[in-house]
Amino acid sequence: MRLRVNITGVVQGVGFRPFVYRLARELGLKGFVLNNELGVSIEAEGEKEKLIELLRRLQEEKPPAAAIYSITSQFLEEAGYKEFEIRKSERSGEVKVSVLPDLATCRDCLRELFDENDRRYLYPFINCTNCGPRFTIILSLPYDRENTTMREFKMCPECRREYEDPTDRRFHAQPNACPVCGPHVWLVDERGERVAERDGALELLARWIREGKIVAVKGLGGFHLVCDATNGEAVRELRLRKRREEKPFAVMFKDLEQVKEFAEVSPLEEVALTRVEAPIVILKSKGKLPREISPDTETVGAFLPYTPLHHILLRRVERPIVATSCNITDEPIMKDNREVEKELGRLIDGALLHNREIARRCDDSVVRIIGGKIVPLRRSRGYAPLPVLLPFPLKGPVLALGPHMKNTVALGKENRVYLSQHVGDVDNLKAEEFLKETVKDLINLLEIEPEVVVCDYHPGYFTTKWGKEEFAEKLIQIYHHHAHAISVMAENGVEVGEKVIALTYDGTGYGKDGTIWGGEILTASYTEFERELSLLPFPLPGGEKAVKEPYRVAVSLLKLSGIEPEKVLGKRREVEFVSQMVDKGINCPITSSMGRLFDGVSAILGLKERVSYQAQGAVVLEEAALKSSTAKSLPLSIEGDRFDWREAIREIVRLKEGGIPVEEIARRFHNWVVELSVMGAEFVREKKGIETLALSGGVFQNRLLTETLTKTLEERGFKILTHQVVPPNDGGISLGQAVYGGLVEKGS
Ligand code: ZN
Ligand code: ZN
Ligand code: FE
Repeated sequence: MRLRVNITGVVQGVGFRPFVYRLARELGLKGFVLNNELGVSIEAEGEKEKLIELLRRLQEEKPPAAAIYSITSQFLEEAGYKEFEIRKSERSGEVKVSVLPDLATCRDCLRELFDENDRRYLYPFINCTNCGPRFTIILSLPYDRENTTMREFKMCPECRREYEDPTDRRFHAQPNACPVCGPHVWLVDERGERVAERDGALELLARWIREGKIVAVKGLGGFHLVCDATNGEAVRELRLRKRREEKPFAVMFKDLEQVKEFAEVSPLEEVALTRVEAPIVILKSKGKLPREISPDTETVGAFLPYTPLHHILLRRVERPIVATSCNITDEPIMKDNREVEKELGRLIDGALLHNREIARRCDDSVVRIIGGKIVPLRRSRGYAPLPVLLPFPLKGPVLALGPHMKNTVALGKENRVYLSQHVGDVDNLKAEEFLKETVKDLINLLEIEPEVVVCDYHPGYFTTKWGKEEFAEKLIQIYHHHAHAISVMAENGVEVGEKVIALTYDGTGYGKDGTIWGGEILTASYTEFERELSLLPFPLPGGEKAVKEPYRVAVSLLKLSGIEPEKVLGKRREVEFVSQMVDKGINCPITSSMGRLFDGVSAILGLKERVSYQAQGAVVLEEAALKSSTAKSLPLSIEGDRFDWREAIREIVRLKEGGIPVEEIARRFHNWVVELSVMGAEFVREKKGIETLALSGGVFQNRLLTETLTKTLEERGFKILTHQVVPPNDGGISLGQAVYGGLVEKGS
């Protein structure tokens, strides 16, 4: 395999390239290292284990003067390098990265934090040039203390001396602070009264958590809701208060050893957990945590402390904690003290506050290992606002307003696309405000004035309406699934003009014919696409309601397959009612969505008739399928340019009535989607003579499906492109939109 690594940070002029060279030679790898405009770029080829070791040791053994601010890695097909060499830089002229992401606490600071003799012993805001907040404290450019939320704190003589000494680790560390001059924490109880300050606050907070209380803790890009992750009752209470029924909670662990007590950790997962970005990593749970953490999966979203405050807290609590975004369902994460104080005695029993303001909201990032690759599911804290590098330049500066769900926005210029932090579902006023703020913020911070603005074609989306209002003359539109295809093409460096086959499977996207697409095989270049094959369309009784209530989809699928829905779902008034909706075509938008097909099958199998979070039906179906290992499938059929699923649905019902376990049927359904996709891909390859195949869309968060499909397609000689830089879900859409806007001829 080949591994591509892009590292930003203090990596030029500090002996980084010779270090990589020695390390790669020692591991017997071939390839090259070079300086690029953002830092260092490495390509290495060899055995997978050696490449993972390279990734690990790059972080652990880096030269003392080097600092890593971000690492992006991609596993790719071999290129056939003969040796390992230091290459000359591709481009001259460094890009000034004016705003960096927030960096997890470095080892030097951590050592000082727990050193009784250090003047910053247990000081929760310790940082240095190599770590600490950046993106979440900067107010305007240039990045100077006066332009950050640290401006209120006047450095004491000792801090000032460090700040001005070029040989000091804190030379020009803008958030530099100490207990004498810097911010401090305090704890308030449910009535809003200050009950403890400074170290006493953290000590009492830890006790409260151990006692089962639910508290808000101010972090880097917002507040976390926190409780004892080993206390099932506390977690259940948190679910009630946050009105979050079943969506998994992230759990923060003291250190890697503690993670390993509760979850299985592969070497690549270890690399992901210990990255400077400190993302949440979806791991296989050992089942020692209460069921309430993640009621319908065998996984746990684990992450490590990334601020000194978290490090102190986790040591004090001595057990893992739930650390989930502090918000009311679907609203943006809370960042200001007063937002949280309003929730005292309601959502929370207390709050740990501090007086360093958060300049902008930034949620935690999430990754999962899929097909032996680190795949981002949410690219936010630790990554934003770093750019994705393109192997070609854009024609002009471009702004992308992003999708409706899991929104991020993007700003592109030359060969770089800067993605915002996670904005989330643009489904309420607060989220709309957050999106507007984020757009303006990104333009100001990066000092890029867009000439073209891109939004979706969906007439109902806020981004579309606002785009038309705000950027009328500059606006161009793109179809959702084309943007998916482009995003995965761009991060894999597909050339301008080249065409690929794109499997774009997701829940919802406005299609060319005005129906909702989502189970599509396209052929696409960066500027054009054609729909080659798609799922046979079906009605969605109740529209959006069917997304939350997949039994409605089941009714629709069953009826179209000639089966009485009551026979499978039971004789119920609601089933009868929905059935009539389908008959009369009332409020039944048409869809070819793969996500909805997963939902519908999940409901037919009796696994999930109603969901409480996005894609839950598919999550539960995948979990069931993992318990079976059958290689059997369901009947396949392509009619014209449609995948006909009706015989498969009839077979599913027959199998269920025949007493076949749902796990086996769920597995067969996964196998069927794989076979169907392969059949479709081969059909298009034959027709169009294209060998490269790209996978994008939320359905590819399904590990079982993605891994089996990729393997099968590779065996059939396809070159596969998957996501490793931006999420396969709609979080990656803004990249696709930006690249489109930066390449397409306006008016075409
Ligand atoms: Zn540090
Ligand atoms: Zn000080
Ligand atoms: Fe999508």
